[in-house]
Amino acid sequence: MNPDNSNSLIMLVCLAHPDDETFGMGGTLALYARRGVQIHLVCATRGDVGDVDPQLLKGFNSIAERRESELRCAAQILGLVDVHFLGYRDSGMPGTPDNQHPNALVAQPVDEVAAKVVHFMRLLKPQVVVTSDPIGGYKHPDHIAIHKATVRAFELSADPSYQNDLLPFKPDKLYYQTMPKQFIRWAVRLAPLLRMDPHHFGRNGDIDLASLLEEGDFPIHARIDCRSVRQVRDEATACHSSQLGGGGMSQRGPVAFLRRYFGLTETFMRAYPIPENGLHEKDLFEGVRVTEATSQASV
Ligand SMILES: [Zn+2]
Repeated sequence: MNPDNSNSLIMLVCLAHPDDETFGMGGTLALYARRGVQIHLVCATRGDVGDVDPQLLKGFNSIAERRESELRCAAQILGLVDVHFLGYRDSGMPGTPDNQHPNALVAQPVDEVAAKVVHFMRLLKPQVVVTSDPIGGYKHPDHIAIHKATVRAFELSADPSYQNDLLPFKPDKLYYQTMPKQFIRWAVRLAPLLRMDPHHFGRNGDIDLASLLEEGDFPIHARIDCRSVRQVRDEATACHSSQLGGGGMSQRGPVAFLRRYFGLTETFMRAYPIPENGLHEKDLFEGVRVTEATSQASV
């Protein structure tokens, strides 16, 4: 890895688990990678918790090992430059014993996780940073934890009084990936037809989709048209085979159709700079300064 990225377009993506990069924003990542943007993924955990078919664990020592290899497969297909693991443990859904594990992501002080993210911000100097939204998409505690740590890191990285072994650096933009409300509405409607409970959705039955409709709407400031990279995203999705095949995550069926339909466009809220009302960006790098050397990678 070359930390001297002064002449490149760089995106830093900070997420909690293997598969978060593909299921929510795989099209966007594939698109920008193909346009020459250097994309680095910070992944806080290795997805240690969850129900994985024992058949899929053959040749692996743990669920985490399997999921790390799935992420590396997806990262290669999407075209990411590198994946950086923060080394925390998947915290599982609220109320499960995994929350209490001393290395669980949710058990760490925000500033401690943020310090690790600051390291990558200052080292890689991304113009654009992307993370989960404030409710972590579907209220997964780890998604919320990495959101908070990334927001904190965004402040600290630029602060000269916050010292680590690297110089302060301020990225130009911060985005949150958001799940379209329309998708949730349709999935809640379709769930009973598929004999699924919208309050216990997902492979592990631990996603209360219906409750998400009661949450406030996050404004959508950027819509990224992902039609041209649909196939790439499908290939990356196939890498995460331990997380497919049930509870609405199947590659086939009406919910898969919905995911495909809504996946034509991926949506983001811009947290920094705070936008004027009615912002409609089509490019996360819109307004980013481009030097001569980077103009070919410009989008
Ligand atoms: Zn996740």
